[in-house]
Amino acid sequence: MRVVRDMRKVILIKYGELSTKKGNRNYFINTLFHQVKSKLKNYSVSITRDRAKMLIFFEDKDLDSIKNIIDKIFGIHTYQIASICDSSLEDIKKTLLEVVSEEKFSTFKIETKRSDKSFPIQSTELSPMLGGFLLKSIPNIKVDVHHPELLVHIEIREDYTYIYHHSYTGSGGYPVGTQPLGLLMLSGGIDSPVAGYLAMKRGVVIDAVYFEAIPHTSLEAREKVITLCRKLSNYTDKIRLHIVNFTFIQENIYKYCRDDYCITIMRRMMYRIMDLLCKKYSAYAIFNGESVGQVASQTLTSMNVINSVTNVPVIRPVACLDKLEIMEIARKIDTYETSILPYEDCCTVFVPKHPAINPKLDICLKEEDKFDYQSMIHKAIDDIIDIEITSEYTSFEELL
Ligand code: ATP
Ligand code: MG
Repeated sequence: MRVVRDMRKVILIKYGELSTKKGNRNYFINTLFHQVKSKLKNYSVSITRDRAKMLIFFEDKDLDSIKNIIDKIFGIHTYQIASICDSSLEDIKKTLLEVVSEEKFSTFKIETKRSDKSFPIQSTELSPMLGGFLLKSIPNIKVDVHHPELLVHIEIREDYTYIYHHSYTGSGGYPVGTQPLGLLMLSGGIDSPVAGYLAMKRGVVIDAVYFEAIPHTSLEAREKVITLCRKLSNYTDKIRLHIVNFTFIQENIYKYCRDDYCITIMRRMMYRIMDLLCKKYSAYAIFNGESVGQVASQTLTSMNVINSVTNVPVIRPVACLDKLEIMEIARKIDTYETSILPYEDCCTVFVPKHPAINPKLDICLKEEDKFDYQSMIHKAIDDIIDIEITSEYTSFEELL
């Protein structure tokens, strides 16, 4: 099918990891197609797909911005920017010469694939023919079939011939939307945005939940979480953020419970709320940025006691990474600079001197019995603020 006549280049996406999902292939391809379509909605593009590849026809001037967007879409493992021409020998030669003239090289190889069997020349004949043509047209180059500096691919298909020589690496993973909703506990620190990014990379749709304790935490801290959502939304369409007012619960914990158990109990309260929110929003898992051993509440004993308030799977994508490894991903996804802004988070405001490293479940239960946390949890859920954040989101003011 001929698509847009005056577009000379096309992004050629071949499905990588998707192709291992035999039964779900169409579903994966369609989800990827809708992601690509939605992310490129502001551009003049034409997108087609079949079982083997997706093609994005675009206008030359948009190449850099489109490439930037494509690089953040999960489910794309490699792609090429191919020049296209009619499948006639004359056009192929002309375009081939244009393509290679933009490059510096002294050795090359041509690999031809003839998908359109009505094209009169066989690949085995065509590669040396076009190689000979280049040798005649460009001085001081030679063919090297083993280690060429420039490997030119020519694919002759029914619609066009595609010529390219470089493969770009995409984000990998699965397209967002191939898994249902998960709730990300997003704190404004370094770890949880990375956890959200890794969850989306597995195809999970993410809503973020932020616990705040105004006036002990500031509106700047909330703004920071909104900025992080905006940055994460580059990898999906949009992120819904649910802001939970945690002040009253937290104040009561500090009023009634023993000092060294406050953090453990606070996290059990967060998990209880997350559990109820999963039911409320039909989410299938909780994601967070806990990393084994990083702080007192993240020892295996702590995690065990904290986790026991919910049966929803709690997935910790950065559980086994070093802080340095997490920071490297945070820099790559551009959340690091925001995460290190110095606004206090509700976990850091009330840190006891000696938090329990090996908390006991029976002590938690005894301490929690001292106040009516159930009604407070329900009130916090009733009072949640919901906002929808896309990569274009700008107006914090309406929330302040
Ligand atoms: P981060 O760097 O993500 O803040 P952290 O190392 O500071 O993590 P903790 O503060 O113990 O660790 O929190 C562990 C995880 O719990 C966070 O990664 C996040 O997923 C979740 N969490 C902590 N505080 C909040 C909050 N205020 N709102 C939402 N989630 C939170
Ligand atoms: Mg934190």
